[in-house]
Amino acid sequence: MKKVILTGDRPTGKLHLGHYVGSLRQRVELQNSGEYDEIFIMIADAQALTDNAENPEKIRQNIVEVALDYLSCGLDPEKSVIHIQSQIPELFELTVYYMNLVTVSRLQRNPTVKSEIQLRNFEASIPVGFLAYPISQAADITAFKATAVPCGEDQQPMLEQTREIVRKFNSIYGETLIEPEILLPDNKACLRLPGTDGKAKMSKSLNNCIYLSDTADEVRKKVMGMYTDPNHLRVSDPGQVEGNPVFTYLDAFCRDEQFERYLPEYQNLDEMKAHYRRGGLGDVKVKKFLNSVLQEELEPIRNRRKEFEKDIPYVYEVLKKGTEAAREVAAGTLADVKKAMKINYFDDLELINEHIRKFSK
Ligand code: ATP
Ligand code: MG
Repeated sequence: MKKVILTGDRPTGKLHLGHYVGSLRQRVELQNSGEYDEIFIMIADAQALTDNAENPEKIRQNIVEVALDYLSCGLDPEKSVIHIQSQIPELFELTVYYMNLVTVSRLQRNPTVKSEIQLRNFEASIPVGFLAYPISQAADITAFKATAVPCGEDQQPMLEQTREIVRKFNSIYGETLIEPEILLPDNKACLRLPGTDGKAKMSKSLNNCIYLSDTADEVRKKVMGMYTDPNHLRVSDPGQVEGNPVFTYLDAFCRDEQFERYLPEYQNLDEMKAHYRRGGLGDVKVKKFLNSVLQEELEPIRNRRKEFEKDIPYVYEVLKKGTEAAREVAAGTLADVKKAMKINYFDDLELINEHIRKFSK
């Protein structure tokens, strides 16, 4: 069986460190590992419209931003098919057929959708499209016959939903769709990176992000202003590492050799954590180290972005070519699906002949 990846992002803003550690960094590694036969990277604008219907301009402006973030992180259009969801109508046809396989109460039980509904104050009136977006996401994943979906932990319920749809479809209409696997980051800190404010998730909607395209100065200011342990008032106080986002970011980003470079009094993060727990290590020192670590990771990304920004027609060409290539694959799957459901009437000579016989009697 072919090994295929499908993953993507909603163009609701520029990409941030949460996207990077949760999915983007791993995508680039998987892309360069050569282990996958096909890699599809989707800019999910139609999904973004499910909670931004009144603001298509926001989505329209952010597609190119996300594409620039992709290219500057090392996604390579020669190896990965970068495409725009809304320009592939086959995905929405699949969605309609899958809708018949899912109940409203099943969608309402999805924990990620539940918390997103709360966050957006949709409780009183949920847009149908928003409630149903896990179904549309199942269409996205299955359209490319994806075997693996690298993403953050919040996507786990979406993958479960997709697998249910695949099983149901195949059991009714015969083996047609592929059940995908989720590929979570190995590093626990990356499953759900917290915000700079200490909230559980760094998220565009919560305004607690460090963006991949932030300037060096913006990154420094955001790091120095980060939430830490609120009980760690004096340097001499013992501090808490668990739930302290400064340490979670270090867990996600720092490497042992960076201590030698920036803070040689520690050999590794465990030693630094132990000192913080004991007391005697101030937040400012930890934050300065984190800033150095992040700058090292972000500077090459930022520099590559500046280069791609000089050639926007190239970026649009990448998107157009990728979308055309992706559409062909999705059309193939849709044809398989319609055949399995026997709703491919005009290609079905058996049906036509049967009706000729039936009505000639
Ligand atoms: P929005 O607020 O518009 O939903 P978002 O910041 O949640 O935006 P998405 O586009 O919904 O971002 O998510 C894209 C991918 O990034 C998904 O795979 C998701 O799991 C991952 N991701 C997003 N935020 C984080 C985070 N804080 N930690 C780890 N992974 C994340
Ligand atoms: Mg999200």
